[in-house]
Formats: sequence, structure tokens, C-alpha cells
Amino acid sequence: MVIVGAGNAAFCAAHAARETGASVLMLECADESESGGNSRFTAGAIRFAYDGVEDIRALCPDLSEEQVSITDFGSYPTDQFYDDMFRVTRYRTNPDLCEQLVTRSTETMHWLRDKGVRFMPIYGRQAFKVDGRFRFWGGLTLEAWGGGPGLVDAHTEIAKQTGIEIVYATRAVELVYDGAAVTGVRVRHGGALQDIAARSVVLASGGFQSNSEWRTRYLGPGWELAKVRGTRFNTGDGIRMALEIGASSAGNWSGCHAVGWDNNAPEFGDLAVGDGFQKHSYPWGIMVNARGRRFVDEGADFRNYTYAKYGRVILEQPGQFAWQIFDQKTKHLQRDEYRIKQVTKVSADTLEALATKLDGVDSTAFLEEVAGYNQAVDTSVAFDPNVKDGRGTIGLDVPKSNWANPIDTGPFEAYQVGCGITFTFGGLRIDPATAQVLDHDHAPIPGLFAAGELVGGVFYFNYPGGTGLMNGAVFGRLAGSASAG
Ligand SMILES: Cc1cc2nc3c(=O)[nH]c(=O)nc-3n(C[C@H](O)[C@H](O)[C@H](O)COP(=O)(O)OP(=O)(O)OC[C@H]3O[C@@H](n4cnc5c(N)ncnc54)[C@H](O)[C@@H]3O)c2cc1C
Repeated sequence: MVIVGAGNAAFCAAHAARETGASVLMLECADESESGGNSRFTAGAIRFAYDGVEDIRALCPDLSEEQVSITDFGSYPTDQFYDDMFRVTRYRTNPDLCEQLVTRSTETMHWLRDKGVRFMPIYGRQAFKVDGRFRFWGGLTLEAWGGGPGLVDAHTEIAKQTGIEIVYATRAVELVYDGAAVTGVRVRHGGALQDIAARSVVLASGGFQSNSEWRTRYLGPGWELAKVRGTRFNTGDGIRMALEIGASSAGNWSGCHAVGWDNNAPEFGDLAVGDGFQKHSYPWGIMVNARGRRFVDEGADFRNYTYAKYGRVILEQPGQFAWQIFDQKTKHLQRDEYRIKQVTKVSADTLEALATKLDGVDSTAFLEEVAGYNQAVDTSVAFDPNVKDGRGTIGLDVPKSNWANPIDTGPFEAYQVGCGITFTFGGLRIDPATAQVLDHDHAPIPGLFAAGELVGGVFYFNYPGGTGLMNGAVFGRLAGSASAG
């Protein structure tokens, strides 16, 4: 079997296929140092359904009694996972794909763990210490050891140990198709084209976010100006190859996952910085645009449920940027990414001084905006970052629904963000039970399977944080076993 790609979805397909005894070849267009796709750029945070602390212990046997005693892991039942998927996708997620994703998430975590992938709780990002206790929120509790790099290294090690072959610097360019079935793949390696015969091919080569022409064509004008958060190698090849032989397209082709990302970040992700250019602590502050105005409810929900759609909102602002503003009261809640060296940040002792430093912003309007916002905060409600505290604003056109605090305690800080695209939502139509690619008649194409970012129909408009890795794991595993079976 041939698997195109060497990210999380591809590795899960490879492991599952190898379990059946199939001989497995993975093709990765990057060289080894840049391999691993977007999966290597992640924090390794992974969403799955669980019923309570015992499920967490089973997946993290290294947890100490002390950690358990000061942590409220809560639960994340399948019902809640369904609710989150349906709510954030505005009830558009394909119910059959969603069912596989949700109902297979727990067993897939155990399968990964049994293979040798290790997990740990996401203290600090997904739980804050309040009155001596951590309380997890937002349905996102575990991450892979070593984050994305650790996850890809673990996958690679498992592959090596189980006899899966990985060929780097080899780009799949075309499917070998005889009009009835896919029988292999044409690759470019060392400057030459070569056909590789295979019983089946699993496409796991990511979305088209790194292809600025496709971005502009499908997401719309302005999207060529977005920065790519992750790998430069996901240019839509797998989608194109399948469409060329008559595969059916599916999903939200004009939609994508995009976040607030340092405005001066490079065109593509930088593995030395990883996900550090993101700026996800906006629920504790406010965001203003070039007109000095707030434009979005920063506290509409836990950041896990808003961050993936706010990149688009930032792209739509004049000049395609925003400034995130914080004062000292919530600085301690800022995520690590606010302390990296490569950050676009200004600070000042007073708001008036800060206003003069916000590049591109109407400073008079900004000061008016902050004054109006400060007056509107309902301080009679207590602030609590671990729950949706309902501490909002009253009477503003753009409300802040939770975690509102007056911006009044200097020194003040501001961070400039633009739009960083993570991955695209449109892709190939697959059979939800087998991950086999379907043609225009919605009939399975013999020998062709797909998993991960390039599958269409799972995400629309928005996305619950940590679902990308689980999506790749569930459908990668299905594709691997079905294609080898
Ligand atoms: C900065 C950042 C942080 C993120 N954080 C998280 C997180 O914490 N949790 C989470 O769940 N999701 C996160 N995501 C999203 C997540 O990375 C993706 O949803 C997921 O990793 C996609 O996996 P995949 O295997 O489909 O694609 P990828 O991991 O991108 O793998 C695709 C592979 O295909 C290869 N490829 C492409 N074209 C070809 C070709 N023609 N021939 C051969 N190989 C090819 C690429 O080189 C790559 O190795 C994050 C993404 C980014 C960018």
C-alpha cells in the first residue's frame, strides 16, 4: 500500500494497514527535517470523549496522586462532543462523518497509546489554578508528549519499529488510474518521474492552505494576504489528483480554520517557532482595529470555540490587522506564546502613551473606545477564567459576553495580529465507514482512500480546538484498515 504524506493522518493509516500485515510505503514530499506536515506544528492537543478522571488516568498512567488531588478533570461525554461539533459548524457537519469522529475518539486514543504515543494533561493552557485547584474547560484536556514534534517523532519511531518504509523528498504528482481502479501513484523523486504500483493508495497530504492561488480562488479575494501557520507543503495535491480522476468534492470549500497570528510572521510556518506566532489569550483583553474600534466579542465562548473563526474576522478588518490590548490584571493568564522573542508588541505606562504606539490605529478613536468599554463592564459579576463567568459588558454594540475587565491598570501591553490560516475545510467526499474516496456518482473509487485535512464535510465555518488531530487519527485508522483489508 502507498500512503501519500507523513503527518498524523498518514501515520495512523500506515499503522492500521501494517497491523493487517500489509507492506506499507509512505511518500513524503518534504525532506526529513521538514517532514510531518501541519501535525509537527501543533501543540499536540487532541480532543476526545471521556467520562471522568479514571479515563484520564488510563491514558496518562504517569499522573501523580498529587496532580489528581488538585485537578478537576471534569468529563467530556460524547453528547457534548456532538453538541460542540454541530454548534460550531452551524449544524452543517456531515452527521455520518461526525459520528465516526465522535464515537471512535476514545478508542482511538487508547489505540494510539497502545502503539506508543504518550499523552499528558494541558495544564496552563486548558486549566488555570484558582484557589489551589486546576479545573479543565472546553473539552480539551490532553496533549501528546513533546507537542506536535513529539507526536511525529513517536509516530516515526513506531513506523520504523514495525517495518513501515518512509521515503522523503518524494512528491506524489498523479494517481495511476485505468478508468476502473487506482493501481498506484506517479511520483517525482530526485528530479525524475516514476510510477509506483500499489494495491491501494491513501491520500493524507493535507489541505490547500499553502497554495495562495487556490486560497484566493476558493476562499475569496484577500486570502492571498493571509500567512500560513504551518507547513508550506500542503498545496492541495491530494485533492487535485483525486479530482482529476473523477472524485467528488465535498464540504465547505470557501471555509477554513484561521486564527489571530503575529502580523509580522513569515509567509509560512517556522518549525523553530512552531505555534508561537498565534495569540490566543484575547478572551482576557480586547481587540481593536485600525479605526480604534472593537469588532468582535472576545469573550463569546472559551477560546477553543472562537479562535478558529476569528482569523477570518481579522482579515476582514481595514488593513487586515488588529491589536490585542491587555492590562496588568490578566497578564498572568497570557499563554506562553506572548513571551516569545519574535513578537510584535508595544507597551506603555498609560493608555494615552500606548495609543501613540499602536501602528496604523486612530489613537483618538482608540481612547474613546477603551473609555466606553471600561464603563460598560458589569463589575458586579465575579471574574473566573475557568468558567464562562457571564461577566460581560452592558449596552455596547459589540458586546463582550464573558471575562470582561476594565483596561485600567498599567503598564499596558498590545500585540499586533493578522490572519494566520491553519487548514482549509473543503476537500474530497469519502465513505464515512471506510474512508474510501467517492466518485461523482457517490460510488467508491476502487483502490483510493483519504484521511485528514483533505477530507471535506467534517468542518464548516469553525472548529472545536484539538479536533484536527483526532479527525486525522480516526479517518486515518479507518482508511488504513479498510484499504489493506
Ligand atoms: C500551528 C498549528 C497548530 C495546530 N495545533 C493543533 C492542535 O494542537 N491540535 C489539533 O488537533 N490540531 C492542531 N492543528 C491542526 C492540525 O495540524 C491538522 O489538522 C492536522 O495535523 C492535519 O493532519 P494531516 O495528517 O491531515 O496533515 P499534515 O500533518 O499536514 O500532513 C500532510 C502531509 O502530506 C505531505 N504532502 C503534501 N503534499 C504531498 C505530495 N504531493 N506528496 C507527498 N507528500 C505530500 C506534507 O508534507 C505533510 O507531511 C494545528 C495546526 C497548525 C498549523
